[in-house]
Amino acid sequence: MEGIGIDTSETAADALERIREQDYDAIVTDIKMPGMDGLALLNEIRSLRPKTPTLLITGHGEHDLAVQALRGGAYDFVQKPIDRDYFIASLERAIQLRRLDREVERQRQALERHARVLEHVDDGVFLLDEGGVIRHWNPAAQAITGLAAAEVLDRPAEESLPGWETIGSLIPVATLPGPGSRGAKTVPLELDGRELWLSISGVKFGDGIVYAFRNLTEERALDELKGEFVATVSHELRTPLAAIYGSAQTLRRKDLDLDDERRESLLDVIAHESERLTRIAGDILLANSLDSDRLRLEREPVDLDGLTREVVDQMRISFAERDDISIQFSSPQPGAAVAGDADKLRQILMNLIENAVKYSPDGGRIEVGLEARDSRVRVIVRDEGIGIPPGEEQRIFGKFYRVDPQLSRGVGGTGLGLYISRELVRRMQGRVSVASHEGKGSTFFVDLPLAPAAALSETG
Ligand code: ADP
Repeated sequence: MEGIGIDTSETAADALERIREQDYDAIVTDIKMPGMDGLALLNEIRSLRPKTPTLLITGHGEHDLAVQALRGGAYDFVQKPIDRDYFIASLERAIQLRRLDREVERQRQALERHARVLEHVDDGVFLLDEGGVIRHWNPAAQAITGLAAAEVLDRPAEESLPGWETIGSLIPVATLPGPGSRGAKTVPLELDGRELWLSISGVKFGDGIVYAFRNLTEERALDELKGEFVATVSHELRTPLAAIYGSAQTLRRKDLDLDDERRESLLDVIAHESERLTRIAGDILLANSLDSDRLRLEREPVDLDGLTREVVDQMRISFAERDDISIQFSSPQPGAAVAGDADKLRQILMNLIENAVKYSPDGGRIEVGLEARDSRVRVIVRDEGIGIPPGEEQRIFGKFYRVDPQLSRGVGGTGLGLYISRELVRRMQGRVSVASHEGKGSTFFVDLPLAPAAALSETG
């Protein structure tokens, strides 16, 4: 036999030593080796090298022993006197088998490595076979969609991925991966009532298509938010600007003989609307600095009782023309002091009371109250206005979020007020929450930590 190296051993112990050291392609052993029974030796070899084919040479009349050896895992046996051709053929097959086995093992490891790579990519990856059945679903696909592999594997994509019959045909499929492939498509996937936006593309694969996707939901939401922001802010700016412009134009007209009262009221409009513009600009800047965490708040004892009373008085004056609205104030335990930033607290309370007025288009009673609770003080602002539709209670605290203006009867706003209030209160270790009945009214709660007693006595 050419190209084959052969090692020989005289004893079982020596043979085992060599086998331990070297991974042979095949082993040939006499069934009766000095030092060890042939079957025991076979056992040792099998436990050391389970994959190495072992040929046994048996003596005449040892047929039963040979059969036992085959049962014990021997590859073949050759009887003495040895048929040379048979022996060589068997040994060659054994060597070939071992080499094939090694190649299979190598490929299995490579495949396993590939599969592991796929398991560790950040993008969702799945394979659809020619029949549209999902045959692979990697952990990122599961993490992004929330659909477990067990739910989707071996099922048609149309059953597992809602809307696939429509979106599937929109997704570009390239014949080759890489720069030659066409760009990914952004498509919506509706899962469990939430909408996911996926950027997805496919590449043809022997017997199907491999799709890769990433989650663009947040980017998309941000884009929408930006769009909403531009629309709301430009609308919000246009109204006061138009009022200022109109009043200024009227004041400039020489042909009109305006009496003092009329002139005064036009100037009032200009002052009032300019103030509104300043506040919108201020809100945008404040929201921005809250986002980038650049805002520094004071943390000092604030007489919440006195401050709330002041804001209520101010609001009564601001909304004096709304004679369909009454603003009540009650504080059973005056003197409650909280730790916080007085200016920002004023702004929060003004926002809540203003909202209560704005969203009470048919008038009503607005109650502002304070309540002491353990180590906290609660401010309550209750109105009898339009209320908040179920499911919107949390969303109204979102940046730029406004309940459909149709529902809020076209009342203007930037959708920043509650976002700013919640962020400010949070930075004062407090919490804002709401309870509402649509059509009946809303109650906003602001919980703030009491100032430590020591700090209070310092300020008197
Ligand atoms: P804006 O009032 O400028 O729209 P806010 O952030 O203050 O912004 O409020 C967000 C949304 O929450 C409002 O557009 C409105 O739909 C709703 N909202 C706030 N306060 C009330 C309230 N007291 N009653 C009913 N709806 C309210």
